[in-house]
Amino acid sequence: MEKRFIYADNAATTRVSDKVLEAMLPYFTTAYGNPSSIYKLGRDAQRDVEDARARVAKAIGADPNEIFFTSCGSESDNWAIKGTAERLAKKGKKHIITSVFEHHAVLHTTQYLEKQGFEVTYIPVDEKGLINPEDIRNAIREDTALVTVMYANNEIGTIQPIDEIAQICREKKVIFHTDAVQAVGHVEINVHEQGIDMLSLSGHKIHAQKGIGALYVRKGIVLPNLIHGGGQERNKRAGTENVPAIVGLGVAVEEAVKNISEKAAIITPRRNKLIDGILQLPYTRLNGDRDKRLPGNLNISIEGIEGESLLLMLDMNGICASSGSACTSGSLDPSHVLLSIGLKHEVAHGSLRLSIDENVSDEDVDYILEVIPKVVERLRSMSPVWEKMMKGEKYE
Ligand SMILES: *Cc1c(COP(=O)(O)O)cnc(C)c1O
Repeated sequence: MEKRFIYADNAATTRVSDKVLEAMLPYFTTAYGNPSSIYKLGRDAQRDVEDARARVAKAIGADPNEIFFTSCGSESDNWAIKGTAERLAKKGKKHIITSVFEHHAVLHTTQYLEKQGFEVTYIPVDEKGLINPEDIRNAIREDTALVTVMYANNEIGTIQPIDEIAQICREKKVIFHTDAVQAVGHVEINVHEQGIDMLSLSGHKIHAQKGIGALYVRKGIVLPNLIHGGGQERNKRAGTENVPAIVGLGVAVEEAVKNISEKAAIITPRRNKLIDGILQLPYTRLNGDRDKRLPGNLNISIEGIEGESLLLMLDMNGICASSGSACTSGSLDPSHVLLSIGLKHEVAHGSLRLSIDENVSDEDVDYILEVIPKVVERLRSMSPVWEKMMKGEKYE
């Protein structure tokens, strides 16, 4: 079997596409004007920033003046949540609702707000990794300032009932924000039709560069300024625009939403083949609902092994994968997402996430399915936990 290089970690980051890179390059060398400058070089840059804003807006069904460029998805989440909290606390609203399995960009922000005197309700998820919208309805109070629930989970790929949640928030007149960093380009989104008030997205998950993101804020919602200074981003977020990155984001978002169903039709059967192939191994389970999940995501627990060792062995075989999220690997705590769907610590530790895009070919899938059983067998043969499991002894 010939060694391959396979990038199956697109939920962690993606390669900048050729089209995005090509669109960006002139802004480093010839079209380098400051969008605030009065001469043509500056005005052209201004025009291209606004063109990118219009592209991002169109891709999610928003108006251009509802889009703010930020430096990343985390910044968008922070701004939406802290900004709303700051504004509505003045009206006595100091309660926030979120879910237990959000990205840390949301969870660490709400934890920070708890220290500032806010009360936060963390909605649980079921064993399939889905939120029940009725739980949100029941949690909403008079003093609820904000509901923030992710569109699709970054670890187990489950897609949440966003329309229902948005509808409930609308009825109850509570602002609804969603972290859609994993969903954009994989799920059809129309913020106006769906009743979404704020939405975060990030460039590097959709083949733009790292360090660029956007926040959609529905017209009529006024967030406090994020960065004080010049008049950029309609006075809300000062700092000279990152023109190349913004232009790249515009192209990337447009490309990402272009062929959502065609891409899914290619990726989903490959993803399913991977799931079925890996689940042939004994003592494995798929994490997250099988159908309500992102086309390219699979997350499987493999008992009797350590996720870290698995990743290193896969790396030696040319396969880039993940166990838990990139932010949590490196720490020994098992993923809060896997614990939230009821996995035991030792099972959560042996989990594998593959996130494929259309560049992972059928041959790549076959290669992955050849490598994984061998690697798992090897690791299990060295594992004291596995030995005890096989003898039917207690091993916790
Ligand atoms: C990657 C990710 C983020 C953070 O985006 P950055 O641009 O890396 O800050 C936030 N939320 C989710 C769901 C993500 O997957």
